[in-house]
Amino acid sequence: MKQKINAYDNVLDLIGNTPLLKLKKITQNLIGNFYAKVEAFNPGHSSKDRIALHIIEEAERKGILKPGDTIIETTSGNTGFSIAMVSVIKGYDCILAVSSKSSPDKIDMLRAMGAKVYVCPAHVSADDPRSYYQVARRMHDEMKGSVYINQYFNELNIDAHYQSTGPEIWEQTAGQITHFIACSGTGGTISGTARFLKEKNPAVKVIGVDAYGSVLKKYHETREFDSDEIYPYRIEGLGKNLIPTATDFDVIDKFIKVTDEESAHTAREISKTEGCFVGYTSGAVMQAVKQLAEEGEFDENSNVVMIFPDHGSRYMSKIYSDDWMRAQGFFDAINTEETQKIEY
Ligand code: PMP
Repeated sequence: MKQKINAYDNVLDLIGNTPLLKLKKITQNLIGNFYAKVEAFNPGHSSKDRIALHIIEEAERKGILKPGDTIIETTSGNTGFSIAMVSVIKGYDCILAVSSKSSPDKIDMLRAMGAKVYVCPAHVSADDPRSYYQVARRMHDEMKGSVYINQYFNELNIDAHYQSTGPEIWEQTAGQITHFIACSGTGGTISGTARFLKEKNPAVKVIGVDAYGSVLKKYHETREFDSDEIYPYRIEGLGKNLIPTATDFDVIDKFIKVTDEESAHTAREISKTEGCFVGYTSGAVMQAVKQLAEEGEFDENSNVVMIFPDHGSRYMSKIYSDDWMRAQGFFDAINTEETQKIEY
């Protein structure tokens, strides 16, 4: 009898079941045990594969989508790439309305995955008919058989992580996790994972990572939206200038803020110490863990799990570019080898 060929049916079968990596070097001066769930191992190289697949399959189950229909979203980031990838396999058109601020590289990546990309002016307000929000909504309203993913306001974003990320972490840690720490953007990752973990063990402490310039931490503390908290910052995918309904603030114990500069340096440090090439928000979550350790949050028995959401290759012209780092003034306070151009 012929032996069965051991192959995956398509890339969607590779989504989820990402590895948990013990961090040793970058944490060597910290008390506790530290693990990262490395979401770059998803086929689209980020945690957003999970929500793209889940939301699209739920729409199929409800009979909203059939092959040839259209999926619409408003991001040039990881979610856009994941939706485009799922659309390729399932035979949907993928339309992404993105801001003209998006880099040409990112737009090319989406087009490489077969997406139709509409570039909308960045300088207009969210309610202007030309804004990428309004363009996406209009296309969705006018197009029968279309689904608008709307990740910031879609409860299925939480559900995707409740059904996959949460159970995976519980199993990988054999139920011994004490702390769960994740960056919060839409809030889907932290909320869905925390809901599952707290159902298993209410004592698991859940800490969200927010950016300076974002409203999430203040909203968590006061339940009030404070627009004075809002100002521009550089980390993408972390923090927000509005309150997403995809965040369940009740399952998060507290938020901690990190700076653009420290997060960038910490991401670079993860790559150089752990050999794990990660994105900007992985630096942010690791930076938060360092700050929490300094505050005495952990002890010898702590099993701390953090999410590394995506891959470093998406940040070559940002945190992994010495020129970019220099232009931000991120090398001003230190004199490392990076600051010295070596000429031969
Ligand atoms: N990191 C990166 C790189 C992201 O793109 C996102 C998503 N915006 C996050 C972290 C945060 O994940 P979530 O949206 O599930 O809160």
